[in-house]
Amino acid sequence: MHGKTALIYSSDFGRYSYGTDHPFKVQRYQLAFELMQAYGLVALPGADVVESRPIEEDTLLTFHSPDYLARLREFSASDVPRADFRYGLGDVENPVFRGLYDWALRGTAGTVEAARLVTENGYAVAFNPAGGWHHAHRAKASGFSYLNDAVIAINWLIARGKRVVYLDIDAHHGDGVQEAYYDTDRVLTISIHESGIYFFPGTGFEHETGTAAGKGYSVNVPLLEHADDALFMKAFDEVAFPLIAVYNPDVLVTQLGADTFRTDPLTRLEITTHSYTYILRKLKALKIPWVAVGGGGYDNVNVARAWTIAWAVMNGVELPSRLPASFVKIIEEMGFPNKMLFDAMHWAEEDDRNRALDAVEKSIAAIRKTVFPLMLERHG
Ligand SMILES: [Zn+2]
Repeated sequence: MHGKTALIYSSDFGRYSYGTDHPFKVQRYQLAFELMQAYGLVALPGADVVESRPIEEDTLLTFHSPDYLARLREFSASDVPRADFRYGLGDVENPVFRGLYDWALRGTAGTVEAARLVTENGYAVAFNPAGGWHHAHRAKASGFSYLNDAVIAINWLIARGKRVVYLDIDAHHGDGVQEAYYDTDRVLTISIHESGIYFFPGTGFEHETGTAAGKGYSVNVPLLEHADDALFMKAFDEVAFPLIAVYNPDVLVTQLGADTFRTDPLTRLEITTHSYTYILRKLKALKIPWVAVGGGGYDNVNVARAWTIAWAVMNGVELPSRLPASFVKIIEEMGFPNKMLFDAMHWAEEDDRNRALDAVEKSIAAIRKTVFPLMLERHG
């Protein structure tokens, strides 16, 4: 038996677009929902599909600055191309488009709603695929992110006395979320990602462990390019999982970006559905009230597969490996060749993986030396 589950979804994502040349495609949410539907996952007993409810601007002000929000609203209301680089708005990454504020607000409202459902309505898990905008800063858009939904939802949880772990398995470092809690022990942030040595946003090294009261409460496992499933699981098993268990939060918030996948066009990790599924199963087994959000993913079928797998794991459903014929037909017309939900086993080239293994072992050893003793002393 498992508790009730909620999927936060609404069908009108098609109203928004970052532009035809932008790697982020709003259509991926619809595609993910179609795949869930084709597998019969949106009409499960005990699983509800819910629309988010509007949130007050005060909720956003727990993280974002009033001047930044005013600028977002102003730009959002007009069709005229605008830019304000002080706020990270109007460059190729964070374009200005009509309705952009409503777009960002929708993602944030969904994550706050997910937090509400697991704390006030008895849901075991609530999943907002349209969240996960982990690069947004207090007064600056960055990395396709305008409003930091996870930070705003976590602030909502903190205001209700909850202790939170934020785990981020997107290919990019969850810099905006780390920054928000860098000096506090109220939230333990853990991010596993492609190394910032050569990769956006250029942060997330193992020596970034927090300051002041937050010392030991920011954890980063950077992975070199070509890191594969075995290394991804190693980072999770040897760092993330034991720390979550020791900290034992009231609520677990996870960012489930699918841009780690081998076939993602923007990243160089070599993860497949194997480690992705493995991590989700272990998270579910923790039985901690769970808020899940989406995140990156620039191959729309990878995104649809990843989040369908996630939603199935959350509901304890085993899926057949072959994609439903109705879905294959939809993606065929879009030019995708996929026929299977799960990827074939994949190992990186030996030299590449040895280099990545060596690096991750060093990172893990450093974290076990700096963060683990602190965590065990305070929470063990
Ligand atoms: Zn990403």
